[in-house]
Amino acid sequence: MVEVRSVHKSFGPLEVLRGIDLDVRAGEVAVVLGPSGSGKSTLLRTINHLEKVDSGWISVDGTLVGYRRSGDKLYELREREVLKQRTRIGFVFQNFRLFPHLTVLENLVEAPVSALKRPREQAVAAARGLLDRVGLADKADAYPKQLSGGQQQRVAIARALALEPALLLFDEPTSALDPELVGEVLDVIKDLAASGTTMIVVTHEIGFAREVADTVVFMDEGRVVEQGPPAEVLDSPRHERTRAFLSKVL
Ligand code: ATP
Ligand code: MG
Repeated sequence: MVEVRSVHKSFGPLEVLRGIDLDVRAGEVAVVLGPSGSGKSTLLRTINHLEKVDSGWISVDGTLVGYRRSGDKLYELREREVLKQRTRIGFVFQNFRLFPHLTVLENLVEAPVSALKRPREQAVAAARGLLDRVGLADKADAYPKQLSGGQQQRVAIARALALEPALLLFDEPTSALDPELVGEVLDVIKDLAASGTTMIVVTHEIGFAREVADTVVFMDEGRVVEQGPPAEVLDSPRHERTRAFLSKVL
């Protein structure tokens, strides 16, 4: 479902991704762990082409991201085509990024109507269903600033789902939240996992990784140091760097 092959990415002289290979199968949840600066956010951003790779390639749901292949050459897609691809790949940020001037319901309706040309009534009905799913049916007419951080993040997740993405990317979805609000957001992500949504989740929540991940990916200095089932990577890591990292966060 997600294939990342030999992806390199530098910012000026700084090589942030140094040859990343990663596979996530349909319906699986991959949790990405690693120290600050190891390239986790950059990796997520290359997967939906918010950052261009310098070399290597990424495919999602059988389609190259940001490029089309012709013979053995890759040609970059136009912005319009990239935007279309991006509707298939939901992204949930650490800091929610809801539209502050729109109600909760309108936050969910906007993209399906403008990007997918859905009839408004259909988008509204789908949005109400999604708000119900994240436990916020009663907040449809509220504005984002009237909600707690945990509620805002649940709206952000519902908004990502409104585009019916093939893949959902989460970049530290709970790290901006007060501790008592973390659980309600993780519960929503767990529900999605149980319903078979393919996801890549960058998080420091090791308990969540243990419970929900099909595969845990440990990154350090722009490389995947190890990847495997949570029981292997978290409980008997093979690499010293993984052990050192886990001993700090556990
Ligand atoms: P954290 O856990 O702190 O979020 P991370 O693993 O997500 O870290 P990245 O955000 O991917 O790390 O950043 C990796 C490195 O790339 C860092 O040294 C960062 O400063 C650098 N970097 C990221 N984005 C850019 C950019 N647009 N321009 C220049 N340097 C960047
Ligand atoms: Mg990051």
